[in-house]
Amino acid sequence: DHYLAAPDRYQRQPYRPAGHHGLRLPSIGLGLWHNFGEGSDPARVKAMVHQAFDLGITHFDLANNYGPPPGSAETTFGGLLKNSLAPYRDELIIASKAGYVMWDGPYGDGGSAKYLFASLHQSLRRLGLDYVDIFYHHRPDPRTPLEETCQALALMVRQGKALYIGLSNYPAALAAKAAARLAELGTPCLVNQLKYSLFQREIEAQTLPVCREQGVGVVAFSPLAGGLLSDRYLAGIPADSRAASASPFLQPDQITQDKLARIRALHALARQRGQALSQLALQWVLRDPIVSCALIGASSPQQIVSAVDALTLPALEDDLQHKILEIMN
Ligand code: NDP
Repeated sequence: DHYLAAPDRYQRQPYRPAGHHGLRLPSIGLGLWHNFGEGSDPARVKAMVHQAFDLGITHFDLANNYGPPPGSAETTFGGLLKNSLAPYRDELIIASKAGYVMWDGPYGDGGSAKYLFASLHQSLRRLGLDYVDIFYHHRPDPRTPLEETCQALALMVRQGKALYIGLSNYPAALAAKAAARLAELGTPCLVNQLKYSLFQREIEAQTLPVCREQGVGVVAFSPLAGGLLSDRYLAGIPADSRAASASPFLQPDQITQDKLARIRALHALARQRGQALSQLALQWVLRDPIVSCALIGASSPQQIVSAVDALTLPALEDDLQHKILEIMN
């Protein structure tokens, strides 16, 4: 099981600075939320991760609860680290998170120091690592003072268990407040990880400008809206798709006629440019340089190739952007 990474991997995509930080992230990162849990085919999982790294994807995004069952995506990735990626550890940006429910009782959810530290320790054990590159608070917790959460995150960095701190799913004002506090504590917030796609453009109005001002990078998750922004659902629901799976996050009833009409119109625009809709969707979220990384999911190596290929396409012209907005508004 000897893996040698492609020698030309750093010629495949531009790396973007995370806000005003020195760390650069690949334009396309790979998330292990779906398709990397316990029931996933190990050969396919390995092929996807190796394909990603061979294309210069240095950033792999995990969380305590990714699976199913929760924890298993980290265990899967830990196995790959051990068996093939260990020589490349210093070339990898590995992220984990805590913030959603992970275990029973008052300390398995939220934003307390107790939960965040216990969860980080568990993640490190599953991954077989002594530090993660980015540790995120996965969502705001109204029951914990922001100060406690910020102190806990800052301490993780001082202890060397995380190199950088990130926030996820924080509304703009709260994210700005937390970032200001983290900066005071000497452990600035590296990135905000937020849902951003042609179907979810809310962050364009407020959050992106605030991030730009504060020098906090943006990691855009679900840039393909879970697969909707692709050719996958043009002719029904394929048996091997997320919508056909048990995932509650994309169910057939969410693929409405209204969405399908927009998907078809976008698909036609993409075809006129000789590219895939999924590539157009990635180009959209990467238009603004404050977006450091578009975090895709994948169920096959080919989907990862297609995403990285999008980075070589001509930029979206102004009139094309207008046509896209007309379709989406
Ligand atoms: P996407 O919107 O990129 O959806 C990924 C899915 O789109 C794939 O599983 C695949 O679906 C389909 N797809 C991908 N490429 C193609 C292609 N070329 N052609 C056709 N279909 C394609 O992202 P995800 O929703 O998976 O989220 C990405 C990552 O973001 C997660 O893994 C996670 O790391 C992070 N995330 C973070 C959250 C947070 O709260 N912080 C929440 C959600 C995600 P199929 O399986 O059907 O083939």
